[in-house]
Amino acid sequence: MNQLIQLDQIVPSKVCFSCDVCCRFLEPDSFLAPIFTQTEMKRAIATGVNPNHFQSTTDGKSAQAKLIPRGDMYICPCFNPETSECTIYPIRPLDCQIYPFALMYNQDRTQVVLGVDMICPYGETEMQTGAFQRYIDYMVDYLETDSAVETVAANWQLIGPYQETVVIVRTLEKLTLARIKNRC
Ligand code: SF4
Ligand code: SF4
Repeated sequence: MNQLIQLDQIVPSKVCFSCDVCCRFLEPDSFLAPIFTQTEMKRAIATGVNPNHFQSTTDGKSAQAKLIPRGDMYICPCFNPETSECTIYPIRPLDCQIYPFALMYNQDRTQVVLGVDMICPYGETEMQTGAFQRYIDYMVDYLETDSAVETVAANWQLIGPYQETVVIVRTLEKLTLARIKNRC
């Protein structure tokens, strides 16, 4: 993915600034730590993020942020805990841009699905609204474009494991097919 993607956001900034869920993690090696494609990682490093803050993933292409201890939690190395801001916000990875959606496998790993993480208080309260339902369509339309499918299928660590806190809203047909082909 060479092109910089800027997806529309549904959660208002003021809601996020009064919430302390994103960018903080309970374990040092949380699988939820953000995944960067090579291009996204290079962009982040070019803006000053330390290259040592990334580790390779098992897909051989993407990289995952190494979390930093902060109090009794662990934070993304791109997070400024003093201001609660992402220091690379305009170039943050797709993995972060789609939240509170999660790309993941269904429970028996036969499909790639899109879900809404109920850990996000906005997602939990707004998911049934018309605006949120339209946003689901918007996100699915983007994730099923050829370029998004190609990127995610190549950086398949972007597809996380099934999570019980995530409510599945759609099956992503093209990504499911792409993953099946890659495994063959
Ligand atoms: S969990 Fe939801 S409301 Fe909270 S910071 Fe993240 S996106 Fe914003
Ligand atoms: S890259 Fe930015 S938005 Fe993503 S987890 Fe790190 S600080 Fe948060």
